[in-house]
Amino acid sequence: MPADPPGPGHRPGRPHVLILGGTTEARRLAQALSADADSPYRVTTSLAGRVAAPVLPPGETRIGGFGGPAGLAQWIAAHRVTQLVDATHPFAERMSFNAARAAALSGVPLLALRRPGWTPGPGDAWHFADSLAGAAALLPGLGSRVFLTTGRMGLHSFAHLTEPWFLVRSVDPPDAPAPPRLEVLLARGPFTLDDERELLARHRVDLLVTKDSGGSATAPKLTAAREAGIPVLVVRRPPAPGGVPHTGSVDGVLRWLSDREAGRRKP
Ligand code: NAP
Repeated sequence: MPADPPGPGHRPGRPHVLILGGTTEARRLAQALSADADSPYRVTTSLAGRVAAPVLPPGETRIGGFGGPAGLAQWIAAHRVTQLVDATHPFAERMSFNAARAAALSGVPLLALRRPGWTPGPGDAWHFADSLAGAAALLPGLGSRVFLTTGRMGLHSFAHLTEPWFLVRSVDPPDAPAPPRLEVLLARGPFTLDDERELLARHRVDLLVTKDSGGSATAPKLTAAREAGIPVLVVRRPPAPGGVPHTGSVDGVLRWLSDREAGRRKP
């Protein structure tokens, strides 16, 4: 695979960090690493291409799949990537396994940025499911006016539920199959606590369904549900690849990168 021509600001010899993105943290990391023109790093963020008009992070970007772990390993070699950061969403299971395999194939060090999951606090009424299908099975017993925040890609798991009314919020319109009683709100986050309070009240929501995405960007909906006494159905995270070093914060990635650079520079 031929390497792309060097972009503006290209300086040979700089370490090249590839961020597997699609999350707020990935964008923050790209911002931190590209804060000024003299950044010691060349930074490329990779996006899957699920959103039609994504908010692009600073630095270089590439969009679309690599063609599995071997394709990612090829890209890493062709573009002389020196460090790989898996900052994908906790539910982007396949990509995290691909990253682990590609790192092993290419010998490039990998760090996963895994934001901590959410835990219920006093006043929360949370129910848990192990998958979207499990959530769909539990749902009819828990509510009938449902704010479904598990993402437009997984709507097909709820398509057979003909009785409950669903509110779905997404950046791009969802594709079929979807549940028949569905209202779609096209909007891009982040959403404030006041936004979420107003939304739950306006639509008389009696159940919130969410993935255990973790992080602060989408947490206000949980606070709003607690305040309104609305139960929450939480889909647990899928397994992450074992043996991959990980951190819960952007600062943790920055420390890991500077430790690795210090190690590389040692005579
Ligand atoms: P996935 O099921 O783990 O990945 C499916 C395929 O999409 C991968 O095999 C890979 O294709 C491609 N892909 C995924 N992330 C990519 C990236 N950052 N750059 C290039 N290719 C990528 O992923 P997903 O759950 O569909 O999520 C897709 C993207 O949306 C991820 O980047 C994730 O961070 C973001 N996201 C996901 C969720 C969620 O709930 N799943 C929520 C918010 C944001 P190839 O095998 O061809 O390389």
